[in-house]
Amino acid sequence: MTRKKIIAGNWKMNPSLSETDLLTDSLKNASLTNNNQVILIPPFTHINMLYTQFKNTAIKIGAQTLSHHDNGAYTGEISASMLKEFGCEYVLIGHSERRQYHNETDLILNLKLNQALKHQLTPIFCIGESLKERENDQTLSIIKNQLTKGLANIILKNNNDNPPLIIAYEPVWAIGTGQVATPEQAEEVHHYIRVQLHTLLGKEHASICPILYGGSVKPNNSHALFQQTNIDGGLIGGASLNANDFIDIINALQLTAI
Ligand code: PEP
Repeated sequence: MTRKKIIAGNWKMNPSLSETDLLTDSLKNASLTNNNQVILIPPFTHINMLYTQFKNTAIKIGAQTLSHHDNGAYTGEISASMLKEFGCEYVLIGHSERRQYHNETDLILNLKLNQALKHQLTPIFCIGESLKERENDQTLSIIKNQLTKGLANIILKNNNDNPPLIIAYEPVWAIGTGQVATPEQAEEVHHYIRVQLHTLLGKEHASICPILYGGSVKPNNSHALFQQTNIDGGLIGGASLNANDFIDIINALQLTAI
C-alpha cells in the first residue's frame, strides 16, 4: 500500500441540518478532481445521513470520538461497533478539545486507540504542543511523549484500502486561532513524528501512515503546507464548514500531487 493523501473536515458541534444540506449539496456538485481520500467528521447525529449520501464515493465518514468500552451503562457514550454499523470508517482520538474539556488522558486515549483498532476503525490520533510548551522549547519532547503513551502496545492490521492509522499534528496554539504554523515549523515536527513512528511501529507501518497537519488551514496557506515532504494532507476545522474553502483546500492537495 502506498501512503494516502487525505483531507479530513472536523465539523465539531456544527452545523444545523439545513446548513448540512447546503454543504453536502456543494460537495456533491463539486468536481473533486483527485484520487485522494476526503473524510467528513460530523457530530454523531449526522453520521448515518452523510454515509447514505456519500456511499460509493471518495468521501468517507469519521466520528469525533468513541467510548473505550464495548457496551453497557455508559450514558452519553457511543461505541465502536455502533459507529461501524452507521457507516463510519475513521474516528478522531485525542483532539485537543477532548483533552482539554473532557480531561482525556494519555491512558484513556491509548484505550480508545486500541478499541478503534479492534473494530477496524482507522484512528486519526491528534497530538500537539501548547504555546507555552513551544516557547519553552519542549515541542519535540511533548510530541514524543504523546506518541509513546498513546501508541503503547497497539497492534496494527491491514484495514482494506484504508491506512491502519493516521496521525494529525495539531499545535494547540494554531487551532481555531488563525495563527498557522509556518510550512517549515510544521515540516520539522512532521519529520520528527515520522522518525518516531519508525521506532514505535516499525518501518512497514510507519511508511504508510499519513501525517496530517491541522491548525488554521485555509485556502491561502494550504498549498505551501501540503508541499512539504512529510505533510500528507490536512485536518481542517473552521474552513471545512465553508464549502468553497473546503473544496479549494482539497484541490490544493491535488495540485501538490501533480
Ligand atoms: C481542528 O479543530 O482540528 C482544527 C484544525 O481547527 P481549525 O482548522 O479551525 O484551526
